[in-house]
Amino acid sequence: MRERNKARVATVWLDGCSGCHMSIFDMDDRLLELKDRIELVYSPLVDAKDYPKDVDVALVEGCIGNEEQRKFAHTMRASTKTFVSLGDCAVTSNIVAYRNPFKMHDVIHRAFIENSEGEIVLPQEDVPPLLPFAVPIHEIIDVDVYIPGCPPSADLIHYTLVELLEGRHPDIKNRFG
Ligand code: SF4
Repeated sequence: MRERNKARVATVWLDGCSGCHMSIFDMDDRLLELKDRIELVYSPLVDAKDYPKDVDVALVEGCIGNEEQRKFAHTMRASTKTFVSLGDCAVTSNIVAYRNPFKMHDVIHRAFIENSEGEIVLPQEDVPPLLPFAVPIHEIIDVDVYIPGCPPSADLIHYTLVELLEGRHPDIKNRFG
């Protein structure tokens, strides 16, 4: 059920390092102001198993690197009014795309065999298969707002959230270069 007068907000961690979520924390005491306007309905920070229906704003960190994330992107898009690509990995695929020039076999070999310091354990069938390329989210689904930066600043995240809560489209390029 929707809490009265509160926007339903999700934060999502795809193929990224969690640094963008750390920037959300860096909003510090502004988080306390936002709590009266936001209901956090899905996030690594809350115990929600399934992506909910009727999400007003999703802040999504990381690019799309595997089959599970590709399907999940469509699930999110279908239930989200304003979809925000949060940070350079989401916007461009950034450092995750460093694997893109290499063959999949070589990537797996490097990560799980050459770099192994103990028992070699290869990904099993219950691990989502990697896509051939790590891609920015907008190559899979439509994105409404882009927040650049690695990580994006807390000021930029706060500005974007407040603009969306006020029903405006954030003017990120002109205000933050
Ligand atoms: S944009 Fe930077 S901080 Fe954010 S997930 Fe990617 S590497 Fe981490």
